[in-house]
Amino acid sequence: MSLSEQQAAALSAETVVVAAGRPPRERDQPVNPPLVLSSTYFGTDALDPGDRGYGRYSNPTWDPFEEALGQLEGAELPALLYASGLAAVSSALSLIPAGGVLVMPTHSYSGTLVMAAELAQKGFIDLRTVDIADTNAVKAALAPEDARARPAAMLWLESPTNPMLGIADVKALTSAAHAAGAIVVTDNTFSTPLVQQPLALGSDVVLHSVTKYLAGHSDVVLGALVTSNADIRSALLHHRTIHGGIAGPFEAWLALRGLRTLALRVERSQQTAMVLAERLSTHPRIESIRFPGLRTDPGHGRAKTQMKGFGSIVCVQVAPVAGLDGAKAADKLVQAVELWLPATSLGGVESLIERRRRHVAEPVSVPENLVRLSVGVENVEDLWSDLKQALDTLGG
Ligand SMILES: *Cc1c(COP(=O)(O)O)cnc(C)c1O
Repeated sequence: MSLSEQQAAALSAETVVVAAGRPPRERDQPVNPPLVLSSTYFGTDALDPGDRGYGRYSNPTWDPFEEALGQLEGAELPALLYASGLAAVSSALSLIPAGGVLVMPTHSYSGTLVMAAELAQKGFIDLRTVDIADTNAVKAALAPEDARARPAAMLWLESPTNPMLGIADVKALTSAAHAAGAIVVTDNTFSTPLVQQPLALGSDVVLHSVTKYLAGHSDVVLGALVTSNADIRSALLHHRTIHGGIAGPFEAWLALRGLRTLALRVERSQQTAMVLAERLSTHPRIESIRFPGLRTDPGHGRAKTQMKGFGSIVCVQVAPVAGLDGAKAADKLVQAVELWLPATSLGGVESLIERRRRHVAEPVSVPENLVRLSVGVENVEDLWSDLKQALDTLGG
């Protein structure tokens, strides 16, 4: 492929998103990797471990994306692509031995929480949920003082959390987890490798919903896992092959195409999110705001030490107005926007807005009037005037 790990390590991430995962620099090779649609590969004798063999084992269209994402996360091995972010979650949770203890943020992504809770209900794992911003509480859950309580087998990290935007002290928690004998998986979907590099902060495995920023155009559903540990990677690859949560080649091809502009998209959307968060924070219809870029945010100090920027998700609680409680006022705001798209998901070029508790699976500790804004790449003043006119419909 076009970039070796050493070359990638010497280049800035803005260059790696463009240069990684290209065909060899040989005469008449295409500049972009081709889309390969084949469920099987020629072969006549016993399979070698490196043979493609069959479409569930490997596909040439996965390779460039896997190589590029591995290099972006600073891993020594290529990433693994999955059918969705949750297929990657399922594979990562399979690393927990039967009956092992999983420590997970109370405000993880809702699908991740549902999956972990169902595994716990069936007795496959033991689940302890914690406030991930409370370092002492997480440490106590990893290695309880009560000698009868078992130490954790896995620590799940999400930072910032979805949708509460809580910030974990990733370095302190990964070292506490390792001391307890647990492996650490970090869902890095909100930050992307350009903003936060969990492997460098001590995490063993990094997870992405590629659906979001990495693909970036709200047109594919995909997931990925990244690790530098060869044993962990083979266990994950085996799980992907046998459980079958593989990526479609067309989705993989689209994801690499989207990845090429990741640096531009992240730079623009982070700048815009900062401006919008500042303006929203003083608006009378906004009861409270969470955005780690604001000096007043409880996660600001931590975010500054472990992130390059503050991401582009902003969450607000809408104030009640005459005749409408906060949840109804939030619904009215979402219905009143004309440029922002009222839709779930995040991380695309288009700005999306959603009241999170409209989902029944959302934890009840997420406030009813919380609205999540995924800031896209449109012009900042256009985004602001649309929000402002929608807030104006709530009255003075
Ligand atoms: C969307 C999301 C997921 C799940 O990914 P899918 O691609 O929808 O399966 C996991 N984690 C986070 C933080 C997400 O935002």
